[in-house]
Amino acid sequence: MAHDNHHTNDPLRDLAHSTLTFYERFGLQPDVADMIQNFREEVGELVEAAQDGTDKQHIAEEAGDVFVTAIGVCWASGVDIEQLVAQVYRVIAKNDAKNHETHVYTDGKIRRRK
Ligand SMILES: [Mg+2]
Repeated sequence: MAHDNHHTNDPLRDLAHSTLTFYERFGLQPDVADMIQNFREEVGELVEAAQDGTDKQHIAEEAGDVFVTAIGVCWASGVDIEQLVAQVYRVIAKNDAKNHETHVYTDGKIRRRK
């Protein structure tokens, strides 16, 4: 699939296409180890920003970097954009279907009821 800057009003799909266009422009090779390193760095920056907690814009920026580098990990691993987008919509549907009868919030996490 060609990657251009055509926006779809689907932020995830737009971000995925933008990221791959960006990588193509700089001739990145799909190296899983490199992409994992970039992802870990951005996760660390997000954690640091969130723990500091003062600059909401900075936290949002770092979260955006985490999304981009997660897409990079998928790209380097051979995951198709549409496969990723479809999975995100599956997560949305699964989460939307969870309720107090199926799940419970305990120890800082929402867990399936036993
Ligand atoms: Mg960052």
